[in-house]
Amino acid sequence: MYRKNFLDIYIKNNFDFDMAKSEIDFAIDILFNYSYKDFILGKTLTNWQIDKLNNIFEQRCKTNKPIQQIIGMAYFYGYKFFVNEYTLIPRPETELLVNEVLKLSDNFVNAKILDIGTGTGCIPITLALKNKNIISDAVDISLEALETSKKNALFHNIHNRIHFFKSDLFNNVKDKYNIIVSNPPYIPLKDKESLQIEVKNFEPPLALFTKDDMGIEFYEKIITCAYKYLSDNGFLAFEIGINQSKSIINILKDNKYNDIQIFKDDNNIDRVIIAKN
Ligand code: GLN
Repeated sequence: MYRKNFLDIYIKNNFDFDMAKSEIDFAIDILFNYSYKDFILGKTLTNWQIDKLNNIFEQRCKTNKPIQQIIGMAYFYGYKFFVNEYTLIPRPETELLVNEVLKLSDNFVNAKILDIGTGTGCIPITLALKNKNIISDAVDISLEALETSKKNALFHNIHNRIHFFKSDLFNNVKDKYNIIVSNPPYIPLKDKESLQIEVKNFEPPLALFTKDDMGIEFYEKIITCAYKYLSDNGFLAFEIGINQSKSIINILKDNKYNDIQIFKDDNNIDRVIIAKN
């Protein structure tokens, strides 16, 4: 079995077996484009490839650093994205947000979208790849994150349809948009210790944490200012965390938003919220 020796590295370091299998497959796929099926059909790895993978898995198990950060890449919506210590690793839950924004974008001829806290740029880049009529502005407070998102846009050859710039939320934003989307930090700092070591020790605190106890600080800030930046009949679309939907719905209602919709993720958790201006 091609995975056996790699799995042994994870097992001797007490890592979960299923997680190990999926990380090994991920690494071989994203680095060398080989799928599990390729090996069944007789493909083999060269010694150089095996050495490289051994080094990656040893580092993964010794340091607990996320495999995507060690390799420097992650998949989102089936596309490759550069990631590093300055950017959140794109999560599958965020694909749900992208799906809902894609549907919303059909309400407009050429939807103009703002992504707040763009990180790797996975949201506007995927939107641009899926719908050629969308153009976006994408902001982040971190210059390092913006460097990464620009690199991702260039890699996917859609850099002419997304304007990335530094902004603390709306600080440097001047335009109006049909849709404002955000997957902001939503973990209360007080919950830091309960997180997986991979997240708390390696992912950027700026992308994860809020100062308030409920994790809703950024939703509140965005919702209360967004009316200045939304076109008539524009939409707000957020990814949200566990147990946050009720409070966010209340903030949206207090700020006179209509047609509020919630979408659940695969674990039946309220994950995406959409509201109309
Ligand atoms: N927009 C990026 C993502 O969804 C980054 C989000 C963040 O850093 N909170 O992955």
